[in-house]
Amino acid sequence: MQLYNLKDHEQQVSFVEAVKTGLGRNQGVFFPTHLAPLEDVDALLDLDFVTRSAKVLRHLLGDELSDETIAGMVEGAFTFPAPLVKVADNMHCLELFHGPTLAFKDFGGRFMAQCLAQFSQGEKVTILTATSGDTGAAVAHAFYGKENIDVVILYPEGKISLAQQKLFTTLGGNVHCYSVTGSFDDCQAMVKEAFLDDELKTRLGLNSANSINISRLLAQVCYYFEAVAQLPKAQRSKAHISVPSGNFGNVCAAMIAAVIGLPIQKLSATTNQNDTVPRFLASKQWQPNDTLESLSNAMDVSRPNNWPRVQTMLDNGDFSYGDFFSHAVDEQTTQSAMKELNEMGYLAEPHTAIAYEGLKADLADDHQGIFLATAHPAKFKESVDSILDMDLPMPQALAEALAKQCLAQPMSADYTQLREAMLNKLG
Ligand SMILES: *Cc1c(COP(=O)(O)O)cnc(C)c1O
Repeated sequence: MQLYNLKDHEQQVSFVEAVKTGLGRNQGVFFPTHLAPLEDVDALLDLDFVTRSAKVLRHLLGDELSDETIAGMVEGAFTFPAPLVKVADNMHCLELFHGPTLAFKDFGGRFMAQCLAQFSQGEKVTILTATSGDTGAAVAHAFYGKENIDVVILYPEGKISLAQQKLFTTLGGNVHCYSVTGSFDDCQAMVKEAFLDDELKTRLGLNSANSINISRLLAQVCYYFEAVAQLPKAQRSKAHISVPSGNFGNVCAAMIAAVIGLPIQKLSATTNQNDTVPRFLASKQWQPNDTLESLSNAMDVSRPNNWPRVQTMLDNGDFSYGDFFSHAVDEQTTQSAMKELNEMGYLAEPHTAIAYEGLKADLADDHQGIFLATAHPAKFKESVDSILDMDLPMPQALAEALAKQCLAQPMSADYTQLREAMLNKLG
């Protein structure tokens, strides 16, 4: 797969290079120069998830990677299902939270880990990432125990939930965690400084594993095929999919799936009160506001860094602006949507409820709606318990992590400390 930098079209890279570099020159993201349509999508939809995903990825990456390599990476990454649950006559929920850290980020994180383990060929790799919650856990679990790869995670002390924190700080081994006295922005600033530090970068082989990485998006393309495959055959051409969106990586993957031939009729990218994209679509003015804190905190993003990829497909006419919806759902409506779903017999956390609400607004009578459940309700137990007045039991993976000891070391929000710690431990 050939890719080009959306901010500097001269810069062209292979998939392997794009995975290893992450971001291009001038902070530009990479995008495929060409997305060819798949042949015989109907036959593909009859295959099982892992076999079909290997075929979809072979279609995209077969010019660079052997069939065996791709099949091995898919088998290693996709070890849990993505069931479609019927919620009403024309409403379904795609549950993406059955992985080890109970959020959809396991799909992309685990496939990216397979890619880097494969492409680094024994060179040293250090994944350095700052987390405000879900990404840290997904990345830590995905890379845990991988040879020649170390993971360093920074998080703001006391600012993420105990469940989120214990999912990655209790692993040990090649996963090194620091609890920083400061905010998430302080953590991100330290990570940014590390990536400008050429000595550190080359000595440790730094990579960020953030949601900009193209390998994560291509992994996510696969579960949209799995969603449509689970609809009754006669309804497979009628899908309207709603994606709860923050950085717009997930909806970008849905659009790529549509561009290569998956019959997605309509797409909704629903946001919380951080509504830069819905306002942009209405006014054509890009005017990010300050980021607001919401119940759906994984979507508290006002400058979505995958938007340029989505806009490229819309501007090129690969997906029609007329079939793309984006609404913002406020805090109060998020809560009433959770209650409404609960009355329909479906338990949802805030991100999932937002996807449902956005879908309801635009779903046509003759379409089949699919909204994405991006996290397990127990991951947001505090909100779910108080809004729905219940005491949700903890799933086993979370209960086990909560019982273990946190191995993170304290650190002040100071880059020189991080640099020293990393060189001492990993240099
Ligand atoms: C990351 C995340 C999102 C947002 O996904 P994007 O790809 O950033 O748009 C939605 N829900 C949950 C639970 C998440 O962790």
